[in-house]
Amino acid sequence: MPSRSALFSQRSLILTLLLLLGCGFLATSLISYFASRSAIRDSIVNTELPLTSDTVYSEIQKDLVRPILISSMMAHDTFLRDWALEGEHDPQQLSRYLNEIMGQYRAYTAFFVSSRTGNYYQAQKGVLKKIDPNEPRDAWYGRVLKMDEPYEINVDLDMANQDRLTVFINYRMFDYDGNFIGVTGIGLTVEAVVRLIDDYQQRYQRQVFFVDPQGRVVLTGSNGGPHGARTGQSLRELGGLRDLLKQMPVPVSGSHEYRNDAGRSHFLNIRLVPELNWYLFVDKREDGALDNVRQSLYLNLAICTIIGLVVLSLLNAMVKRHQESIEALATLDSLTGLPNRRGFDLLAAQALQESRREPNPLVALLIDLDHFKALNDTHGHLAGDEVLRQFAQVLENCLRQADIICRWGGEEFIVLLKDTDGARAREIAEKIRQRTEELAFNFAGKPIRLTTSIGLSTLQREDTLDSLIARADHALYRAKQSGRNRVCTEMPRSDNE
Ligand code: GH3
Ligand code: MG
Ligand code: MG
Repeated sequence: MPSRSALFSQRSLILTLLLLLGCGFLATSLISYFASRSAIRDSIVNTELPLTSDTVYSEIQKDLVRPILISSMMAHDTFLRDWALEGEHDPQQLSRYLNEIMGQYRAYTAFFVSSRTGNYYQAQKGVLKKIDPNEPRDAWYGRVLKMDEPYEINVDLDMANQDRLTVFINYRMFDYDGNFIGVTGIGLTVEAVVRLIDDYQQRYQRQVFFVDPQGRVVLTGSNGGPHGARTGQSLRELGGLRDLLKQMPVPVSGSHEYRNDAGRSHFLNIRLVPELNWYLFVDKREDGALDNVRQSLYLNLAICTIIGLVVLSLLNAMVKRHQESIEALATLDSLTGLPNRRGFDLLAAQALQESRREPNPLVALLIDLDHFKALNDTHGHLAGDEVLRQFAQVLENCLRQADIICRWGGEEFIVLLKDTDGARAREIAEKIRQRTEELAFNFAGKPIRLTTSIGLSTLQREDTLDSLIARADHALYRAKQSGRNRVCTEMPRSDNE
């Protein structure tokens, strides 16, 4: 049985290894997780989002710069100027001109507002209406009238086209002397831009929307912006952006990170689109981007746990087997291969228990080689060893598998004969004695003669192992005393030989 300290050291070894393996695996998994996480964050913040911004921006430029040029060209067109300065006589003529512009440049609408008459001319509808400075829908005109810049970009509803959301380029127009004579330009639907936003949002799992310098959402994808943002809403009205607005009350170009109300981390890239004077927001949720790394962390940990457990159970089995073999060695005599005294104690205790339980008779034989000291002296210690080995063999040959044979110490052996009565045991002891006497033991080709004395005792009800052996020892003593090379039996009472 493994000793308590052996069990303890085995357990502490396994625990230490478990701890080492666990910490090692955990550390490497976490290090690689955090490394990949920061690489992904870096790539989102420094590459992905700015790249989306750039691409959306260049698409917008492509879509908006051209209309600005066309509007500028219209504002400087001599026909338009002359037509206005000559008294706006033939609206049909202007309609043809505006239609031509629309067709040529695939604009959504084209218009001219005269400052002199207040007429709003539109490509298909001719004079659409008169501008009324008190009407909220015409407020834009008042603004353009006063502004210093040559043009503005205004996202508004187009009255001429069922109030569709339209991007108008409002270009200020002057006569040849530099006097303000009206506003001209074209309009285009924001559908193309919205489609572009939708496409980006779907393809790259990010939110794209536009915000004006006052923090008002001006354009989103068709399903709205992040946190339920709708066109016209202020960022302040969006619950999820509280953390962001604390860092940045009005839009600021650059990379930002914030947490929404649910505590989820977001990356945000903001850039100004100078042509529109709008800020382009590209927003990405962190957890979606890091799902893969997190999954590979869990997979890593699961693999490490399995490997760790397999390694530990293999190690445990190896240590156990090693311990068992050490224990087996500790109970065996190295010279003869028979159980030693320690081994005998275990086997004898079991045999005694069995014999009492059945009950079956049990006999002990204590065997001592005669004049062994002299044998050693004559033939040498090595010869003595060899004789001991060969004698152990003789014993094994004379006995059954079930009997217990043990080297008791020096040139003494002890045997427990199971299920054997005194008479049968005596026969067996006699056989051993005779065999030994007759046999020529052999060392380096030299024959060596040997005799043996045997003390025999049978197990009595009141016996302990010690008392049984003590009687056998007594019998052996008598065998020696009475001339050696004999078997003596020690009876518990008066019938001793
Ligand atoms: P007796 O007949 O009274 O038993 O005489 P004896 O010489 O056998 O008894 P004694 O106890 O005086 O001597 C035992 C000797 O056995 C002494 C010791 O050197 C020898 N011996 C004990 N163990 C070994 C061993 O492992 N190998 C060898 N070669 N000799 C051993
Ligand atoms: Mg002896
Ligand atoms: Mg002896």
